[in-house]
Amino acid sequence: ASGSEENDVVVIGGGPGGYVAAIKAAQLGLKTTCIEKRGALGGTCLNVGCIPSKALLHSSHMYHKAKHSFASHGVKFDSIEVDLPAMLAQKDNAVGNLTKGIEGLFKKNKVNYVKGYGKFLSPSEVSVDTLEGGNTVVKGKNIIIATGSDVKSLPGITIDEERIVSSTGSLSLKEIPKKLVVIGAGYIGLEMGSVWGRIGSEVTVVEFAPDIVPTMDGEIRKQFQRFLEKQKMKFMLKTKVVSVDTTASSVKLTLEPAAGGDQTILEADVVLVSAGRVPFTAGLGLEKIGVEIDKAGRILVNERFATNISGVYAIGDVIPGPMLAHKAEEDGVACVEYIAGKEGHVDYDMVPGVVYTHPEVASVGKTEEQVKALGIDYRVGKFPFLANSRAKAIDDADGLVKILAEKETDKILGVHIMAPNAGELIHEAVLALQYGASSEDIARTCHAHPTMSEALKEAAMATYDKPIHI
Ligand code: FAD
Repeated sequence: ASGSEENDVVVIGGGPGGYVAAIKAAQLGLKTTCIEKRGALGGTCLNVGCIPSKALLHSSHMYHKAKHSFASHGVKFDSIEVDLPAMLAQKDNAVGNLTKGIEGLFKKNKVNYVKGYGKFLSPSEVSVDTLEGGNTVVKGKNIIIATGSDVKSLPGITIDEERIVSSTGSLSLKEIPKKLVVIGAGYIGLEMGSVWGRIGSEVTVVEFAPDIVPTMDGEIRKQFQRFLEKQKMKFMLKTKVVSVDTTASSVKLTLEPAAGGDQTILEADVVLVSAGRVPFTAGLGLEKIGVEIDKAGRILVNERFATNISGVYAIGDVIPGPMLAHKAEEDGVACVEYIAGKEGHVDYDMVPGVVYTHPEVASVGKTEEQVKALGIDYRVGKFPFLANSRAKAIDDADGLVKILAEKETDKILGVHIMAPNAGELIHEAVLALQYGASSEDIARTCHAHPTMSEALKEAAMATYDKPIHI
């Protein structure tokens, strides 16, 4: 435990924002303590978010490929089945190893780790109810709030994590549900819907809004929805869930058109509520020290991640901005650099977003809708993976690259990639955007052949001139 010695930095929360901030602070020579209530480091992302979901997406994708595409590649076998306990165990194993890995990093960097629930006594003191029982007070010259976010529930729907599950329950279902209804067509709903759909569930996604993933470029989104429909995912858009009845053996959802009208009943074995996430500050005592929050409960900070209370900072999901692990990490590093008297910088316009379905959808910068709304004169360059030799060679050619560049200067404004490995391909575009590159800069950069990355080069050529291969 920390004792009463004063720290330079105390971080409340050991998620990607908090643990990265703590390690960075220690690396900068600051005496640092990180407080985490979960009993494991890595936060939402590692324990019940990014990592377990990607483990299951990979396992389910392998099964689906084996079942539906291996034969056409000349790989045949007699039978194939899902061993769900083994699938879940490999996910748990990955999570367990990674959380222990962060503990190792804490030791290596001499970050003091206190397991327990932290709450403010004053702007420089945190009282911790420790997991082993008892209480300790941790003092710090600077305190960083990195308490993250929690599942958002919907009025009238009680999550029991068995039949009505949040994303957390959806990562550990004991059986493959015959019928899975997903409420909310954001990236978490589509990823978890994909997992269970690939291994046998009939998946229906109910969404109040007229579109899936509202932040996505409209043209990409339309094609994306078609690919998901091809995988038998059903969509009920502009539809409101009025109530959920769990009294019978199957769950009955009463639905209504968003604009009003006749109600219908939809049956499900399991319902996944994935209607977004809310900042988590319960029990933290923010009122006590007077930290300002907005209407959505997010902690307000300036460009240096400082709250209105001197010495108290906040980063990650608990402040405004994209609720993503890599954004939380960037916040953490920059915040600590400021505390150490250096400069830090996070540009939220350069934060890539990835949906890890198949194909994946990755984007950075502006959508065509945003560029239009800003009244910028622009050009669009597109290249389909159907014309990319590597994608054809491996018979996985659903998707495209779309680049938006300013008409006059050719400066890249946004890049959108839908491809099996779009989440990896996007980083060339992130770098280009970060360095203020033009599409011609990408087009004149030599790309290895045959790679999926060549599609980005060709889309760049198409932006200011003509592509070669289409
Ligand atoms: P968190 O990760 O939420 O960590 C906060 C930590 O603080 C928690 O461990 C909590 O226990 C602890 N804490 C809270 N209050 C206290 C207290 N008072 N005292 C002590 N400890 C406290 N993002 C991506 O970028 N890519 C993805 O693929 C991705 N997939 C996701 C899939 C799912 C199913 C979910 C739910 C989320 C996913 N996310 C993904 C989002 C990502 O998990 C979050 O953006 C990220 O975890 C935010 O990091 P954070 O450090 O701000 O908060």
